[in-house]
Amino acid sequence: MPSFDELKGEICTDVLIIGAGLSGLLTAFFLKERGVDCVVVEKGRICSHTTARSTAKITAQHGLIYSKILKSYGKEYAQMYYEANSQAVNSLKKLCKAAGCTFEEKANFVYRYNMNKLKEEAKALEILNVPYIYSEVLPLPLTASGAIGFENQGQFNPLKLAEFVSKKLKIFENTKVNEMIGTTAITEFGKIKAKKVVVATHFPFINKHGSYFLKLYQHRSYVIALKNAEKLGAMYVDDSKTGFSLSSFGDCLLLGGGGHRTGKKGGSFAELREFKNEYYKNTQEAFNWAAQDTISLDGIPYIGNYSKNTPDLYVATGFNKWGMTGSMVSARIISGEILGKPLDFSPVFSPSRSILKPQLLVNGFETTKNLLTPTTKRCPHLGCALKYNKAEHTWDCACHGSRFSESGKVLDGPANGDLKMN
Ligand SMILES: Cc1cc2nc3c(=O)[nH]c(=O)nc-3n(C[C@H](O)[C@H](O)[C@H](O)COP(=O)(O)OP(=O)(O)OC[C@H]3O[C@@H](n4cnc5c(N)ncnc54)[C@H](O)[C@@H]3O)c2cc1C
Repeated sequence: MPSFDELKGEICTDVLIIGAGLSGLLTAFFLKERGVDCVVVEKGRICSHTTARSTAKITAQHGLIYSKILKSYGKEYAQMYYEANSQAVNSLKKLCKAAGCTFEEKANFVYRYNMNKLKEEAKALEILNVPYIYSEVLPLPLTASGAIGFENQGQFNPLKLAEFVSKKLKIFENTKVNEMIGTTAITEFGKIKAKKVVVATHFPFINKHGSYFLKLYQHRSYVIALKNAEKLGAMYVDDSKTGFSLSSFGDCLLLGGGGHRTGKKGGSFAELREFKNEYYKNTQEAFNWAAQDTISLDGIPYIGNYSKNTPDLYVATGFNKWGMTGSMVSARIISGEILGKPLDFSPVFSPSRSILKPQLLVNGFETTKNLLTPTTKRCPHLGCALKYNKAEHTWDCACHGSRFSESGKVLDGPANGDLKMN
């Protein structure tokens, strides 16, 4: 990846983008293309956090989302969600071509063990006029009842795209924003005065507005890459948060799963290796990694104004493990709003929509429980008790998903600083 200097001193810009993951970089790219003066700051190296650990499937099929949106928000919103994400698939395909980065076109399938849920989704897709295919036989060692598929989806290497996009941008690496005073960002060695600010930091770090500490939690997943496995012609994922994801990339089969709320127990690598040992005996584990994504209350990302009271502050978060298309959708919505050309589907993603969803109670319960748990290791974000994660040797927060190394270095936000070790 190209490298960039850190910021030293004071600068001014029209738009500041905080966070150089795929969502921040694409937003900056669209603004720059339209002649807007913008600067990106990244606390580490560009695209070295969640985006680097994605399985990078590009699809408008985000689990069995359409029956859920239809039920909670109605036909118009469900259609707009589809429109936003299918446009994102096409935009990513086009941009990959311009960047000389391979976009492997494939079908995506969501499988399920419960036939009723699949039937419900198929019915919703028919109401919405969304094309889909149905398969009862899957080339997988699973006993799923069947799967719903979208054709002409794809997969790519997001780092190749980020490399292309970043060459055209003004970026400062190793430049962490410690604090915002209005639309001025304070970093360790400098200050950036901006007219508008986009917070693309994965989990938003500003607590004063938007109540993201109530609206989001983080879910961790594990991936092992297997060599010598038979190549899959399509991409497969279980609709359940604790199920498996299978896709081939290069000469590897990517097996994902073992998921759990960050800070809680789950299957982790052990579950994946058990599955490999049973069904992919003759393969070899070539790589493995773990990562987490932000999960919203209703399965729809939060994209747009950070809160009702912050007209010059924008946010892109809550991608629910579908942040490849999510990043493209957020880049188009936020750049459109900054350019004074809002997109028709923006209201679906509004961060100010109602928070009265059952997941709010779960998030509230976890936070209360962990705030009241007596222990010395506490998260610097909001003070929740940290739990030791034996599989990864880290201290993890079950409230909002911040993670720290054994020596206290912050690995994942929203905590914006290291752990004080006693
Ligand atoms: C295991 C796994 C598999 C996935 N697979 C898929 C998939 O197949 N398809 C799909 O669509 N999605 C997938 N996702 C989701 C997707 O990878 C993410 O939603 C997406 O990468 C998030 O991008 P981002 O730009 O929001 O965040 P990031 O890539 O995390 O970027 C945020 C950046 O902000 C920086 N930052 C944070 N705080 C500050 C600060 N204070 N100052 C400056 N910089 C800061 C961070 O260092 C980071 O680089 C997967 C997620 C996981 C965990």
